[in-house]
Amino acid sequence: LIIPSWLEFTQLIETIFETCRESKEGEVASYIPQLARQSPHLWGMSICTIDGQRFSLGDSKKNFCLQSVSKAFNYAIVASEIGSHVLHQYVGHEPSGRLFNEICLDSNNMPHNPLINAGAIVVTSMIKPTHSMADRFDFMLKQYRKLAGGGHVGFDNATFLSERDTADRNYALSYYMKEYRCFPDESQVYEKAKGLREELDLYFQLCSLETNCDTAAVMAATLANGGICPLTTEKCLGSRPCRDILSLMYSCGMYDYSGKFAFQVGLPAKSGVSGIMIVVIPNVMGIALYSPPLDKTGNSCRGVAFCRQLIDKFNFHNYDSL
Ligand code: GLN
Repeated sequence: LIIPSWLEFTQLIETIFETCRESKEGEVASYIPQLARQSPHLWGMSICTIDGQRFSLGDSKKNFCLQSVSKAFNYAIVASEIGSHVLHQYVGHEPSGRLFNEICLDSNNMPHNPLINAGAIVVTSMIKPTHSMADRFDFMLKQYRKLAGGGHVGFDNATFLSERDTADRNYALSYYMKEYRCFPDESQVYEKAKGLREELDLYFQLCSLETNCDTAAVMAATLANGGICPLTTEKCLGSRPCRDILSLMYSCGMYDYSGKFAFQVGLPAKSGVSGIMIVVIPNVMGIALYSPPLDKTGNSCRGVAFCRQLIDKFNFHNYDSL
């Protein structure tokens, strides 16, 4: 077993979890009603180890949308399909030091990295670019369900419709990138008038994929396990793309808190505006945390607090072994 004293371990996790519950910090995202309606009291956690040991607490079965956490999985899925080196002809590797939805490109006129909106929208355009919209969505849903080992991965249509209705920034960003020819040549954005709208629809649809902590922990554990789902032992992602997304999550996964998070917690993680956070302990486990109140950088307050206490109790920090 990867964690031998499981009972002792889970008891310590529960203590940390209950300490974080008391936090009253942060604000629930309010730019669309589907997020604004989330209760600030929701607090869930789930762990899945690479050998399939599982532990859940609180609202671990409550469904929510992946939002920006989809950016990490989209990258890993696309890179597994076409190769990281092909993908990175269009997207960089550097933290942007700017807001996640800012209209800015790097000195090569490429998005800084795949985990901010600019980069994620370009990655979305590389998902089976010549296929129909229905087939492209279906393909992604199937890949997500594989990563999740049969757990719940659904679609929240109301969130999708709201995201699309409040998308001025993402449209502006995408037109800007189209002008700079940031998308691959075969992308439909150059082919037809509705090409750019369809690309953004797919991006919002993937933000609107619905899951819960129990399932998100399995997806994170698949990343911890080099792309092999611990529940089904199916190889879902290439080993190299899996390594690559963990590197990117380490440096760019937590918005403008990424540097400090890497310093304090020392683990690859990705957060989303719904209050979700996934954390990966490579070769050990995936952790999913869900609590809607966000701090000023857009990360879940209870989620970040949990990670910091986890590192106080256990030597999971990347450089703890020194
Ligand atoms: N869906 C939102 C957007 O793309 C935000 C995603 C997120 O979690 N930051 O603007």
